Amino acid sequence: MMILLNPGPVNLSDRVRNALLRPDLCHREVEFSQLQSRIREQLLQVYQLGGDRFAAVLLTGSGTAAMEAMITSLVPENGKLLVIENGVYGERIAKIAKIYRIHYTRLQHPWGSEIDIKALLALLNETDDVTHLAVVHHETTTGRLNNLAELAAICQQRNIQLLVDAVSSFGAEEINFADWGISACAATANKCLHGVPGTAFVIVRRDALTAADTIKRTLYLDLATYCQQQDRGGTPFTQSVQTFYALAEALQEMDEAGGWRARHAHYTKLANLVRNGLEEMGIQSLLPPENSSVVLNAYYLPENFSYEEFHDKLKAQGYVIYSGQGDLAKSIFRVSTMGAITYADMERFLLVVKQII
Ligand SMILES: *Cc1c(COP(=O)(O)O)cnc(C)c1O
Repeated sequence: MMILLNPGPVNLSDRVRNALLRPDLCHREVEFSQLQSRIREQLLQVYQLGGDRFAAVLLTGSGTAAMEAMITSLVPENGKLLVIENGVYGERIAKIAKIYRIHYTRLQHPWGSEIDIKALLALLNETDDVTHLAVVHHETTTGRLNNLAELAAICQQRNIQLLVDAVSSFGAEEINFADWGISACAATANKCLHGVPGTAFVIVRRDALTAADTIKRTLYLDLATYCQQQDRGGTPFTQSVQTFYALAEALQEMDEAGGWRARHAHYTKLANLVRNGLEEMGIQSLLPPENSSVVLNAYYLPENFSYEEFHDKLKAQGYVIYSGQGDLAKSIFRVSTMGAITYADMERFLLVVKQII
């Protein structure tokens, strides 16, 4: 078996893989309707959200589909979006805004940098028309965990709606929807939730969605349409039925194991093991642990190794690491420990790295 240390798709548990083999199902039958409703409830339960205030809207697509649905469905014609960028995924949000001609501005940082709160406040002070702020929670580009609580407080003070890309943090990091006043958050089945690629979702505050009901920039990714039909047990388009089976099973498995807090604790153990083990071999992390997620960390390549050579040697031993993006491609590699991966798997990983270098 190959151990996947890339940030999704992840190694599946047998339970989740076997769920893919359940009976064929028409997406217009009551059995599908029940499955869909159950997943929507399970997703809200991950962070104990009430269905009266929040809705989980299920889409067939990858994480980017959920990001695109969130941005295009919630920022009105006369609204203005501020996008915070400190990695690939923040930049992707701005690309979405540009393609759909959404009125937007950006606060740019080098990849991996901490969000400059002074610069953010200065920008907000000179432009009083920002209605929405979009930010990536865990910037998978570098492993940086952005400080959502701090941004949320600024948004709440100024009555700005907070839109979060939580694609690589949902289910493993703290997301305090109520205290942080989050309007919407986009995520996917096949990262920290340990499901199969093919299902993505947006957790959205119902009042934010009602207010946005008249915004129609896209047919396929319109959140309001999905939400209305899913509330009635339906779906506007064919959903990826088998990945729904897998997601329901993955959420059940996670709940039985102790929910997001237990997953956070498990990831923390694995991340610390890898960080300390690599450090002993002279392989340094890009960011200190206090700025990093527990989901993924970036490391400088060992001396005298190209990424390709290091990757190929590890793959021959059963481990798939992940390259850096853009300018970081030549200097770093990334290790994510999402998915059905054990402590013993990562102990063996360290042994293999030691042998290789
Ligand atoms: C993985 C990821 C995405 C979405 O990527 P897809 O390939 O579309 O699933 C978006 N944002 C972040 C932060 C991610 O880690």
